[in-house]
Amino acid sequence: MTSNQSLFERARQHIPGGVNSPVRAFGSVGGTPVFLAKGQGAYVWDSEGRRYVDYVGSWGPLILGHAHPAVIEAVQQAAVNGLSFGAPTEAEIELADLLCARLPSMQMVRLVSSGTEATMSALRLARGYTGRDKIVKFEGCYHGHADSLLVKAGSGLLTFGNPSSAGVPAAVANDTIVLPYNDVEALKACFDAHGHEIAALIVEPIAGNMNLVQPSPAFVAAMRGVCDQSGALLIYDEVMTGFRVGAGCAQGLHGITPDLTTLGKVVGGGMPLAAFGGRREVMEKLAPLGPVYQAGTLSGNPVAVAAGLATMKLIGEAGFFDRLAAKATQLCAGLTEAAKAAGETFSAQSVGGMFGVYFSAHCPDSYADVMASDRARFNRFFHAMLEEGVYLAPSAFEAGFVSSAHTDDDLESTLSAAGRAFARLKA
Ligand SMILES: *Cc1c(COP(=O)(O)O)cnc(C)c1O
Repeated sequence: MTSNQSLFERARQHIPGGVNSPVRAFGSVGGTPVFLAKGQGAYVWDSEGRRYVDYVGSWGPLILGHAHPAVIEAVQQAAVNGLSFGAPTEAEIELADLLCARLPSMQMVRLVSSGTEATMSALRLARGYTGRDKIVKFEGCYHGHADSLLVKAGSGLLTFGNPSSAGVPAAVANDTIVLPYNDVEALKACFDAHGHEIAALIVEPIAGNMNLVQPSPAFVAAMRGVCDQSGALLIYDEVMTGFRVGAGCAQGLHGITPDLTTLGKVVGGGMPLAAFGGRREVMEKLAPLGPVYQAGTLSGNPVAVAAGLATMKLIGEAGFFDRLAAKATQLCAGLTEAAKAAGETFSAQSVGGMFGVYFSAHCPDSYADVMASDRARFNRFFHAMLEEGVYLAPSAFEAGFVSSAHTDDDLESTLSAAGRAFARLKA
């Protein structure tokens, strides 16, 4: 019989760390990753046949749950007509029209295959459009693994970045300025000093890669303000938040019109599909219209587009996001109550279908705050929940997700599991 342990041993023979994306290896929480064999609705099953209520949802895409019948049917229908053409198709137009209709800031859009490609291309476009090289990002925000974006803060408030990965040239990292999230003063000081050199400010408008961190209204307004003043482009990286926090994405909640937006995860419905788009005048700088090169053999892949379209149509139904948000709210309230009953220092919050849980007294505002939470305690909680049959993201730095497939019963069973898990932490 296969076991997670034996698969992990086998996987490590020919796959670095046994995984095709690092966090899957359980490095942060310890132990053996569960190898998944099947998903249906709110559940996943591992190689040993154990069922879990899933709050990872493939790291965000599966807003309708696993293997939603309408999405699977759309994929099957597209697949029988051929897997890839490398030529334009009508379905791509339909998806582009739909994205531009749902996001007022998006006048033109290009499809790509991953969030990393979307952010990387958006940065090149911003640099090509402005003729400037520097970009600004925030500490704790993840924008995929392009060189310019794998940069961490140097010491001190206003510093040029250092590579956060081996293999990123220092010269590339040096064009990335890293600032603390939610720090209006640091943002203004940076643009006062370097505004004329900055091509773009890229931000996770609701951060979800340092657990969930919400921006203050003043921070949101200041980002738009400094970009307007300096001529830098404001890039909302909505790869995670796009069609996850609400029907109009984070920009809709903030009342902000970014110059460019990157999308991924939900828009692909579980298939490799992402997008970047925005102001027409900027997007027209892309090849073949303009001088900024960007391309992809599998861009706009017909099977991926079919999954994306089917997903986008279903989440466009009236009341979808209200129902989804109610589930996440119920989960967070229940977890907070269970923690309190166990005397645990804990907080939780959600935005739309995305949530954060923290072993700290307050929800964090910054990377430093997240770092100050009790991560060892999170790791024990994670394993206790896993044993209870609840699959949370295997790291204290990741947001969680609910899907429309999570029922009241699923939420209740999760909360009673949490009650036992919190009690075990105390024991
Ligand atoms: C997941 C994510 C990315 C990267 O997307 P991939 O498809 O994993 O390359 C970029 N930005 C944000 C905000 C993300 O959450």
